[in-house]
Amino acid sequence: MTNEMRALQKSAPGKGLEMISAPVPEIGPDDVLIRVKKTGICGTDIHIWQWDDWAARTVPTPLITGHEFAGEIVEMGRNVTGLTLGQRCSGEGHLIGKTSRQSRAGKFHLDPETRGIGVNEQGAFADYLRLPAFNVVALPDDVPDDIGAILDPLGNAVHTALSFDLLGEDVLVTGAGPIGIMAAAVARHAGARHVVITDVNQARLDLAGQVADVRPVNVAEEDLRDVIPALGMTQGFDVGLEMSGNQAALDQMVETLVMGGRIALLGIPPGKSPVDWSRIVFKAITIKGVYGREIFETWYKMIAMLQNGLDVSRVITHRFPADAYRDGFDAMLSGQSGKVVLDWT
Ligand code: ZN
Repeated sequence: MTNEMRALQKSAPGKGLEMISAPVPEIGPDDVLIRVKKTGICGTDIHIWQWDDWAARTVPTPLITGHEFAGEIVEMGRNVTGLTLGQRCSGEGHLIGKTSRQSRAGKFHLDPETRGIGVNEQGAFADYLRLPAFNVVALPDDVPDDIGAILDPLGNAVHTALSFDLLGEDVLVTGAGPIGIMAAAVARHAGARHVVITDVNQARLDLAGQVADVRPVNVAEEDLRDVIPALGMTQGFDVGLEMSGNQAALDQMVETLVMGGRIALLGIPPGKSPVDWSRIVFKAITIKGVYGREIFETWYKMIAMLQNGLDVSRVITHRFPADAYRDGFDAMLSGQSGKVVLDWT
C-alpha cells in the first residue's frame, strides 16, 4: 500500500471540489481503515460544491468531502474485535459521542454532539477512509457495492418511511428526489395500499414510476385532490412523508391528509416557512421531524428489506469513475438525475 491517495477536497471557501493527493489516514486503536470502492453523491455534497450559506457556515476548509460509501476493511486498530480484514462494509457517517443522555440511553441518532464525515470531519470521497469500528456496517454478499454506497440515503428514506405503521395505509410522498423515490419504494414494500408521490419535475416522477409501484403526480399539471377519488380513497392520505422542503408541498399534504393523519418531515425548507397551524390542530395531525438514521436499527431493517425483495437499484441513474467527478456533479446539478455513484476502484 502506498501512503498517498486520491481525495476529493474542498480546498478553500468557494465553488467546486478538487482532486488532490493526500496522505492515507492513520488509524487509532478503535478505528478501521477502509479501501473505498464506491461512493454516492448526496444533496449535501451539492450544497458543499455550490458553497451556499449553510456550507459556508458549517464546513471547515480544507476538508475531504463525501459520506456515502461502500468498501473493504484493509487495516484494523488493536482494540477492534468482531470485524475481519477484507470484510465488505458500508458505515454510519455520523460520529457520535458517548456521554450525552441520549447516547447513554442507546438513542445514538439523537446525540447532540454528532459530527459528520465529509461535513465536519474528513470524508469518504477518497481511496481510503478512517472510521471508528463502531460505525462499520458489514455488507452481506447479496448487497452489492453500488447499493452499499447508497445505504446512507436509503437509511434516511427507511427511517422516514418507518416512522409510522404503513401496513394497509394510503401514503403520500412529497418530493421525488432519490430519497423520496426510495421512501415510496419502502412504503410499498412495507405494505402500504396506495403510494402517491408528487413533484413538479417530470423526469424525477418518471424515475419514481420505474423504481417502485407508485402513482406519480405532477402537481403542476394535476390536482392532488382529484387523485384521492380516482384511486378509490374516501377521505385522503393516512400518512405523509415530506421529502421536498417545499412549502406548497407541505400545504398540499396537510390539505389531503385524513383527520388524525401522521406526517414525517425529512425535507428541509430553505428558511422559515409559514405553516397553517390551526389546520394542523383541527385535523389532529401528528408531525415527526426525522434526522439521519436510527443507529443501528435503520441499518438492520434496510439490509433485511434489501435481502427480502426491496429493489432500489434503478434509482442509480449515473455511474462515473472517481476521476470524472465533474461529470457526476454536473449530472446532479442538472436536476434530471437519480443517485450518482463514483467508482474509486
Ligand atoms: Zn447523504
